[in-house]
Amino acid sequence: MSTANPAVRRLDDWDAERLRALRDEYDSPLYVLDLNRVRENYRRLARAFPDADVRYAAKANTLRHALAALGESGAGIECASAGEVARALDALRGVADDPGARVQYTAVNPPDVDLDTVVELWNDFSALTVTVGAEDTVDRLEERGYDGRLCVRVNPGVGAGHHEKVRTGANAKFGVPYDRATDLLADAADRGFDVVGIHAHAGSGISGDDLSAHRELVSRMGDLVRDSPVDLEFVDIGGGFGVPYGPDENPLDLDAVAEATREALGDVDARLAIEPGRYLVADAGVLLTDVNTVKETAATTVVGVDAGMTTLLRPAMYDASHRIRNLATDADGRDTVSQTVTGPICESADVFGSDLDLPAPERGDVLALGNAGAYGYEMASQYNSRPRPATVVLDRGEACLARRRETVDDLTRLEEL
Ligand code: PLP
Repeated sequence: MSTANPAVRRLDDWDAERLRALRDEYDSPLYVLDLNRVRENYRRLARAFPDADVRYAAKANTLRHALAALGESGAGIECASAGEVARALDALRGVADDPGARVQYTAVNPPDVDLDTVVELWNDFSALTVTVGAEDTVDRLEERGYDGRLCVRVNPGVGAGHHEKVRTGANAKFGVPYDRATDLLADAADRGFDVVGIHAHAGSGISGDDLSAHRELVSRMGDLVRDSPVDLEFVDIGGGFGVPYGPDENPLDLDAVAEATREALGDVDARLAIEPGRYLVADAGVLLTDVNTVKETAATTVVGVDAGMTTLLRPAMYDASHRIRNLATDADGRDTVSQTVTGPICESADVFGSDLDLPAPERGDVLALGNAGAYGYEMASQYNSRPRPATVVLDRGEACLARRRETVDDLTRLEEL
């Protein structure tokens, strides 16, 4: 792998001085997303899977700049809601000849408003694809006059991922039961839908250490393509390409994953599609946060910062560990102190890390949390009436404000008196 596009960007690879300057200019807490790194991640993945369509799972980060950068690079966009479909189509305008052809909506127990909106958008973007995970959804699309491109999401009975909450493959909520998929494909084709593909997603965080679940899922999908009563244009094996969160974790060996995928899929007369989310954006983002409190206790040194579980939910939700770095100019010269980094939210789950050996903290220090580009801002909330932070993008060396910081007025803007 060329060093010009390393397989991973670690937190230490970010320029501390630049990050401190960004924090000074745009305040804290602040998300920073480097679009060059997003593009690099796309290029590396596309190179490993030269015959596949890459559909970015927008749920990882729907920032317009990210969607447009990936669209310009050639990616399609996989969407989890009508809102994401609208944002994807918007970002692809002027980027793709036919934005609809790049967009795939994966309907998971879709609310009526989602189906209404997507069918309306389909009237203008007839090349978009809807993926259904229940026979019921086919009926509801038919009721709305939809007879466009249809993909069937299959429950492959195989789950994988870094946490029980992200293993979707074997969860009955997702996809039609494997043994009913061929009947649904035939039925939908008989009813006039343009049946184009099958889809499955094992979960998030597939690791290079164990590709057995991945192989099994892909192999089951290969069998299904061969058994399909309808000629399929594509077989979509979902996302879940893991990234190293810990300093000692290795990056995913993409060539090994690609080879395992090809082997497990076998000969199929259908194009492969993949839906990476995290892999494309995680290490392109950091979260900057100010230290506002340093408290010595018998148990630990408590470091209070101005970002919390409302800014970055993953540690509280998934026990995820995001590396933390103190960006102070003299950080390297300070003693190392075991510390707990915690936010301002009135919840005991509001902790970014415990027993962390980091430079002795001082009020006013700026900390950076790594791998914050995926499922960071997307999962942010206004709980405790905390306005969501701003996002700055770096593009070809230049920084620009991509999303302003919310204000307290924003919190009440929708209230009716
Ligand atoms: N595709 C589907 C259907 C998903 O549900 C998800 C994540 O939940 C993804 C793709 C992307 O997963 P990841 O970000 O782990 O690549």
